[in-house]
Amino acid sequence: EPVIRVVGLGKSYETAAGLFPALKGVDLDIRPGEFIAIMGPSGSGKSTFMNLLGCLDTPTVGDYFLTGENVAQMDKDALALLRNRTLGFVFQGFNLLPRMSLQDNVALPLVYAGADRETRREKARELLAKVGLGNYADSLPNRISGGQQQRVAIARALVNEPRLILADEPTGNLDSHTSEEIMRLFKELNAEGITIVLVTHEPDIAEHCKRQVRFRDGVIVSDTLTSEAAA
Ligand code: ADP
Ligand code: ADP
Repeated sequence: EPVIRVVGLGKSYETAAGLFPALKGVDLDIRPGEFIAIMGPSGSGKSTFMNLLGCLDTPTVGDYFLTGENVAQMDKDALALLRNRTLGFVFQGFNLLPRMSLQDNVALPLVYAGADRETRREKARELLAKVGLGNYADSLPNRISGGQQQRVAIARALVNEPRLILADEPTGNLDSHTSEEIMRLFKELNAEGITIVLVTHEPDIAEHCKRQVRFRDGVIVSDTLTSEAAA
């Protein structure tokens, strides 16, 4: 069973000039263990698509099944639970809280999940160690580099043990060397079985993924495997 199944998915926005179709009937299956780059020019519908996958927005038409569950038919609470259990999010801008230690940033999703203090501390420290920042647990985000901040954001995305990570331009604010290091980390996570869907403009970044799906004008125009798929 696919982790994600999208059937005839469409999204139109209300604008002053009328309805604007940003996504026009997209079909896509994403199976467990895939590592997919979502590509395409600015305005092609990538963010719209990712917002739908993350259940941050609702489609105008079509169906979205997340781990087999029809998202449109779930009530708000059930959907929130499914999202928290299934998805981890990583953003271009890291989105760390500046006044909180790295440990507390990583542990934040566990606060919402109702975990006790000691569990949160242990889990956050374990994940900071996993992303190579075990010695920085008590530091503030502004004391570390952008690449390190993105590692913290990835640790935070992992804290609820998601099956799937959705990453929107995760290397967009990083230099190429640091971007390569972040992609190496994603590859390790993928090798451990986590499915990854990652938006990028950069062909060099997309080459690290196993599959490349390209959008143009709200439709998928190509869907190909890379040499990584065989590796
Ligand atoms: P991408 O992420 O590929 O740059 P987007 O999904 O952000 O593309 O946008 C696709 C199209 O939909 C663009 O033409 C954009 O201007 C339009 N769009 C995106 N969000 C909105 C919105 N909230 N209201 C109106 N138009 C939007
Ligand atoms: P990206 O960096 O992915 O291309 P955009 O700059 O296209 O992102 O969009 C950033 C945010 O603004 C998104 O949440 C998108 O939905 C919204 N947006 C994009 N285009 C429009 C628009 N024409 N009207 C209103 N909101 C928009």
